[in-house]
Amino acid sequence: MPLYDYQCHNCEHVFEVWQGMDDPDPECPVCTCPQVTRLISAVAIHTRADGTSARVEGEFKRRLGQGRARDALRLADKAVSLAGNKKGMGKIKAARDKLRGHLGK
Ligand SMILES: [Zn+2]
Repeated sequence: MPLYDYQCHNCEHVFEVWQGMDDPDPECPVCTCPQVTRLISAVAIHTRADGTSARVEGEFKRRLGQGRARDALRLADKAVSLAGNKKGMGKIKAARDKLRGHLGK
């Protein structure tokens, strides 16, 4: 069963959950808000840097496409902090820096 990171929409708490592919999203353990976003897990990034960078990139673009720029930035920040030195992460790093400049933070 893979380990996933989730982030709460309400209080922005980040937590890890072991989950099967078909399990429903968990609720936030802090505020019990049911609206959480699945982040890319640390395990996935550490073990599959190349495949993961493509997944992070896809998810990053998806969030941007939905106008969720801050979510996209959070995702990229996390990916870079976990695997910033791995092959294939340079593109995500550059996109992250560009977006951060755009958001002015
Ligand atoms: Zn919460």
